[in-house]
Amino acid sequence: MLPSRHAKVLIIGSGPAGYTAAVYAARALLEPVLIQGLQPGGQLTITTEVENWPGDTMVMGPDLMVRMAEQAAHVGTQMVNDIVTKVDLSVRPFALETDSGTHWTADTLVIATGASARWLGLESEMKYRGFGVSACATCDGFFFRGKTVAVVGGGNTAVEEAMFLTKFASKVHLIHRRGELRADRTNQARLFANPKVEMHWNAEVTQVHGKDDPLTVEGITLGSTVGDAPRHLPVDGLFVAIGHVPATGLFAGQLTMDDEGYLITAPDSTATSIPGVFAAGDVKDKLYRQAVTAAGMGCMAALEAERFLTHTAEGGH
Ligand SMILES: Cc1cc2nc3c(=O)[nH]c(=O)nc-3n(C[C@H](O)[C@H](O)[C@H](O)COP(=O)(O)OP(=O)(O)OC[C@H]3O[C@@H](n4cnc5c(N)ncnc54)[C@H](O)[C@@H]3O)c2cc1C
Repeated sequence: MLPSRHAKVLIIGSGPAGYTAAVYAARALLEPVLIQGLQPGGQLTITTEVENWPGDTMVMGPDLMVRMAEQAAHVGTQMVNDIVTKVDLSVRPFALETDSGTHWTADTLVIATGASARWLGLESEMKYRGFGVSACATCDGFFFRGKTVAVVGGGNTAVEEAMFLTKFASKVHLIHRRGELRADRTNQARLFANPKVEMHWNAEVTQVHGKDDPLTVEGITLGSTVGDAPRHLPVDGLFVAIGHVPATGLFAGQLTMDDEGYLITAPDSTATSIPGVFAAGDVKDKLYRQAVTAAGMGCMAALEAERFLTHTAEGGH
């Protein structure tokens, strides 16, 4: 039989949303348990400098996440290095299983499983990730003042990222596999009117080139989707904007999601379609996708879980 443990507040995920929820729940004496998942610390552990976390002029992403973990543990969060593999939200308390074979029950759940950027899948792209290859213009655009960058993608996100980058970069190449963009017409019109933007139609990035010490991007190879010869494009940075995938597979068929798999919550709230289950951070947010917004939602989720538990204890439904 599986070992069984219970939590009043069980938090899934150890990014800024999960750790912030843990700090608030622990300080409300709810003895939260946080299951860290495959990537303890979340997405910020795969980046270098973070310059937009309030209170730190510059902090390395992995260092910031270690500090968040220490703070959450310090106030009384029980950290569990495990991965949730199964969730049953049709029973109360909610039932979960983990990779280690532990069976958890929980009165409330905070889902903070995040999302991951879709990448092109090139070895050279992996090599320069965080060193000139990025999936977040809001996060990294500032590092490319006066430089030349390329953006890959054809939807609204790619166009918005390209427009945002024109504030910093001297030149922005937008690379798209097809002969027209999927982005809406207004966005396209703004893009085409910007003199810093150069379009590369029917093209795909097949290689990222650069230096090794320090790791620096110097250019990309563009292959053609219509049979033209490959060509070299000198750039200082590459932004991949081909979408994100929220980590919501565990909740499929149980919680309401949008057509891209993001969890849907009530307006101005982290409450999901099942009372007692809250969602915070990138798993429910495809608009802002920032550490500080994820942390803010983690705070909201813990406060809402606390209110839910109080209400339930008083006999509410
Ligand atoms: C390269 C890069 C650079 C970035 N730079 C910045 C920046 O400079 N500034 C900024 O504000 N934002 C930046 N971001 C965005 C920021 O990292 C995210 O917005 C933020 O991390 C989202 O936090 P989160 O807590 O929602 O989820 P995440 O950080 O995505 O964390 C998700 C957590 O869920 C866990 N998890 C997933 N599935 C399970 C499971 N089944 N069981 C248990 N746990 C699970 C994972 O292990 C992980 O710990 C960057 C992102 C990337 C990729």
